[in-house]
Amino acid sequence: MKTSALPIVSSCQSPGLAPSFEQTLAFHHLLPLKAHLISILQVNIGKVCNQTCHHCHVNAGPQRTESMSKDTMDQVLDVLDRTPQITTVDITGGAPEMNPYFEYLVEQCRARGRKVIDRCNLTVFYVKGKARLPRFLADHQVDIIASLPCYEEGNVNQQRGKGVFDRSIMALQSLNSLGYGKEGTGLVLDLVYNPLGPVLPPPQAELEQDFKEELGQRYGIQFNRLYTITNMPISRFRDDLAEAGQLEHYYTLLLNHFNPSAVDGLMCRSLLSVGWDGRLYDCDFNQMLDLPVQTETQEWIHQFDLTLLEHRHIVVGPHCFGCTAGAGSSCGGALT
Ligand code: SF4
Ligand code: SF4
Repeated sequence: MKTSALPIVSSCQSPGLAPSFEQTLAFHHLLPLKAHLISILQVNIGKVCNQTCHHCHVNAGPQRTESMSKDTMDQVLDVLDRTPQITTVDITGGAPEMNPYFEYLVEQCRARGRKVIDRCNLTVFYVKGKARLPRFLADHQVDIIASLPCYEEGNVNQQRGKGVFDRSIMALQSLNSLGYGKEGTGLVLDLVYNPLGPVLPPPQAELEQDFKEELGQRYGIQFNRLYTITNMPISRFRDDLAEAGQLEHYYTLLLNHFNPSAVDGLMCRSLLSVGWDGRLYDCDFNQMLDLPVQTETQEWIHQFDLTLLEHRHIVVGPHCFGCTAGAGSSCGGALT
């Protein structure tokens, strides 16, 4: 694992003295940071969620009301009709299935031949009226990327809420019974791991092996891939760190583990993020920080211009160190 040749920053050093993300990229001759294509449209269809996890970068929960309208979804579909280069629609939230038009969006994207990913918290299957979701997802050959930060009950419940572990296990077993995670079915079930606290994730391949053994032996669960994701110092996780007096320490950890070889694969270089109201962002993290795509490019889905957007400069901030620390991090797991 490569680390930065910049001076190591001490956690008691003034944040003002630490190099910015842009300065760090410049030091490694990695500026300008620009998109190079758009093959994935990541559509955040709302902030409503049946859970309120501690690390949530969306600050999602049952009390949120933001939800993508059917009109905005139709604008997304219009972009797909004009842009065959976009092969994947990655649907996220909140719990995206809480949006009343979730199934409409899935059906329309699949009808257009796109791969569809549902970022699923698993427990949403047990929300009233959602019991048919697993069958719906299987019938439409939707890839599922499900959150499960540990195979130990106490750790999961501590981060995601009481009872979440048991319901997650039941949900995974029910997905397996439909063929998800099993060879030859084409039904993809990937899991997402994120650390419980302010540390970097362990090596992805080794952890995947551990999860496969533990979930297989204990619960008979099978899945395809495990993705490790670094907790981003924004929103609820940032607030928790600040309250515990650990925020500066965490930024220092991320900065001191800057890995230049992660920069080429940053997800913002091949993905465009759409907010619940149709605004465009470089990634879901920038979306939560209200940092839309640079204003020289059009900022809204109805203004979508592939040529401008594919060559846009990425808007960065200190949170970006979360994507470049250690093995790197993205919605598709480690980068190196
Ligand atoms: S992390 Fe996921 S499941 Fe948890 S509150 Fe946020 S959106 Fe909901
Ligand atoms: S936070 Fe977003 S913009 Fe920053 S490096 Fe990560 S993906 Fe790119």
